[in-house]
Amino acid sequence: MKLIPLPAFSDNYIWLLHNGHHAVVVDPGASQPVLDALVREQVQLEAILVTHHHADHTGGIDAIRQATGATVYGPARESIPAPLVKRSGGDAVTVLDLAFHVIDVPGHTAGHIAYYCPAVNLQPLLFCGDTLFSGGCGRLFEGTPEQMLASLTTLSELPNDTQVCCTHEYTLANLKFAREVEPDNQALRDYQHYCQGLRSKALPTLPSTVGQERTINPFLRTHTPSVIASVLRYDASAVELHGVFASLREWKNIYR
Ligand code: ZN
Ligand code: FE
Repeated sequence: MKLIPLPAFSDNYIWLLHNGHHAVVVDPGASQPVLDALVREQVQLEAILVTHHHADHTGGIDAIRQATGATVYGPARESIPAPLVKRSGGDAVTVLDLAFHVIDVPGHTAGHIAYYCPAVNLQPLLFCGDTLFSGGCGRLFEGTPEQMLASLTTLSELPNDTQVCCTHEYTLANLKFAREVEPDNQALRDYQHYCQGLRSKALPTLPSTVGQERTINPFLRTHTPSVIASVLRYDASAVELHGVFASLREWKNIYR
């Protein structure tokens, strides 16, 4: 199995997974990067997986479906270009002979779903859209902080070696904020240097892993003393009113 992030727009990745013959893509916001990659890799598109309804994840669906006849799977509770095979938490999607588990991860949008396969090339694989980013998490457009925290907690409980395939190259900006929150986290400092090296060569910082994120991502660490202390220092009254996670998300929203 080959896993390739196809760059789109300014900072999106459309994930392509193929076995040398057949392929799936995840969240194709644009069609051309996908159609070009199918020719380049000489594979036939079997399916499109969609995590949520935003245009930068769905804009290429119609053109790709028309060109390839691929089946489209997506969140049951969101409006995605039809025909759609609707999926929600607890369902399965079998593509490329791989069984993906569907997980409900509301927060960024109300019906956002993620796709998890326990073994792709012997390693677990997660397509999580705009829920969990490397070093950060999606903005709360439709869900509550409680929902997002529950969704991120579910994802953080996946095996440590799970490859995290999120949809945006936001890592360096996220890590800059993470360093502000946890200046003494040595693993975070090391990871920032590593990612800066990748980006200076125009390489993707993704996929990350669940184990890595548990160590460096403040949004998975709102139970740790260092993150709690830092958010309290930033706005103790917000923490009292809304809790650590919501206050951390608010802080990130206005951080530059
Ligand atoms: Zn989105
Ligand atoms: Fe997005």
